[in-house]
Amino acid sequence: MEKSRDSQETTASVPHRLQGTGVCPGVIMGTAFVIKHDEPQIVERDIGSDEIDHQISMFEEALIETRRQIRDVQANLGKQVGVRDARLLDAHLMVLDDRAFVEEVITRVRTEKRNIEWVVSEVSEQYVKALSAVQDDYLRERVADIKDVARRIIRNLTGEKSVSLDEMTGKRIVIAHDLAPSETASAPKGMVLGFATELGSPTSHTALMARALEIPAIVGLHNVTGVVMTGDEVLIDGNRGILVLKPTEQELEEYGRVAATRRHIVEGFSNLKDQPAETTDGKRIVLSANAENIDEIDSIISYGANGIGLFRTEYLCMSGNCDVSEAAQTRIYSEVARRLAPAPVIIRTMDIGGDKYLENDGAEREPNPFLGCRSIRLSLRYPDIFKEQLRAILRASAEGNVRLMYPMISSEAELDQANALLEECKNELRQQQVKFDADIQTGIMIEIPGAALIAGRLAKKVSFFSIGTNDLIQYTLAVDRVNDSVAYLYDPTHPGVLELIRLTIKAAHDNKIWCGVCGEMGANPLMVPILIGMGIDELSVAPSVVPLIKDVVRKLSLKDAEALAHAVACAESSAEAGKLCRKLLKRIAPEVLELI
Ligand code: PEP
Ligand code: MG
Repeated sequence: MEKSRDSQETTASVPHRLQGTGVCPGVIMGTAFVIKHDEPQIVERDIGSDEIDHQISMFEEALIETRRQIRDVQANLGKQVGVRDARLLDAHLMVLDDRAFVEEVITRVRTEKRNIEWVVSEVSEQYVKALSAVQDDYLRERVADIKDVARRIIRNLTGEKSVSLDEMTGKRIVIAHDLAPSETASAPKGMVLGFATELGSPTSHTALMARALEIPAIVGLHNVTGVVMTGDEVLIDGNRGILVLKPTEQELEEYGRVAATRRHIVEGFSNLKDQPAETTDGKRIVLSANAENIDEIDSIISYGANGIGLFRTEYLCMSGNCDVSEAAQTRIYSEVARRLAPAPVIIRTMDIGGDKYLENDGAEREPNPFLGCRSIRLSLRYPDIFKEQLRAILRASAEGNVRLMYPMISSEAELDQANALLEECKNELRQQQVKFDADIQTGIMIEIPGAALIAGRLAKKVSFFSIGTNDLIQYTLAVDRVNDSVAYLYDPTHPGVLELIRLTIKAAHDNKIWCGVCGEMGANPLMVPILIGMGIDELSVAPSVVPLIKDVVRKLSLKDAEALAHAVACAESSAEAGKLCRKLLKRIAPEVLELI
């Protein structure tokens, strides 16, 4: 049942616009459905010794019921967004399977003789406090899982119902403090128009879900549940991260124009699907897609991408119960290769660490994880595991156009070490008479400034470079890529960043190898002309962004792009460089400019 405050006016003290972080693009207007996590009412009471067994069996039944509910939600989610995203809920099942948690609850009921719901709430609170204190984004996000599961268990114990998305009576924009994947999944299909949450980062569940569903979303909208009420009309701008409460006629008109332009552009894109990403004067760019899992292949094909420029294999083991045996990896990579053949598929070896941790890996957290044993460093530390992945990639290379890429290479020695292990794997497969592409193209990501500076030497040992601008910018400018408070310093047009990119492309071409960009800079229409002007050969972007970037490339001339790259290199500041990019895009594709 939805409550409205139609009769209430928005007072002067209620902000009209809220600014957060846009994590999935698009503009949408609609009626808000607010989920406030009013905690279930729990009364603390003493119990007699004769009640203990009954309380424990109630707990056991509640665990079974909770598991059943989560599995239902997971099945529902699997149908909507694919198995991989549904596996986010494995984290919830793991909370239920945590023997330490269950035993502690039972022991405390016996020793403290308190009612079961109160004890569950106390124990889960204790876990939440411990995890919240950890300096680790990924673990902190597990706090939401524990809260979600504990709330479910307690509601199953007390019989209390929560407000959930399945109570929505029409298409709604969902506003919440935070959203658990189980909540997203319980929404009737196609009913959620957009999301806005108080918590969350671009790597949070809400962001992952929104991207999987391709609906506009904003995170980090502080106090949005205190400002917006169910029934309010709201507008969400997922590009700029703005929520407008009760938009005025003028704002509606402004955003209506943006939405219409977007529709118009998107309609135009459908004609581009089979067209090449070629500039007006004939320079062809390979435009590929970034992928994290096999469920994305259909959309990669439907958006007309030229294969996969970055397959982030670490996501295969980011959720619990994953199988990353050599056989399982071979199956996945082979299927991807077969379905996209003859288009290339660049499989990047695992880039674990930084902000991408494995659940329950038992590893001690490092003080500076982005500068620690991340990525290729971790792979080289565990050569047997690394070789399983290398052999799986080699095996898959017999099934299609597979290429291999190492992330985070910082030196020639590291590259030599990885290549020596690759040679060992090739020999092992030869001995077993397993087919593979003996000339498999092997490349590296350039995402460390030191690697860009020695790109000339590295280029002699590889078949291609792919510039990881997400990390290259963070390491060049010393700006943590996931820290909101320094985001204003994260600047792709910084002259230092551009110079490193220029050096990398030049080194590649001097050594007759190709060079791409698979970081987000390549998905930014303002930056694409600079990259093309600097000579980039390939761009790899999220599947749904492929048509937008193709449109920009096809409206651009290489001549203008080169002039822009030159002008930007001579610009006095990055602000001036930014203005030059905007000016060019405004001239060649003004409608695209309006969207960003
Ligand atoms: C990058 O760093 O730009 C990149 C594409 O890799 P990831 O985002 O996976 O670190
Ligand atoms: Mg990277």
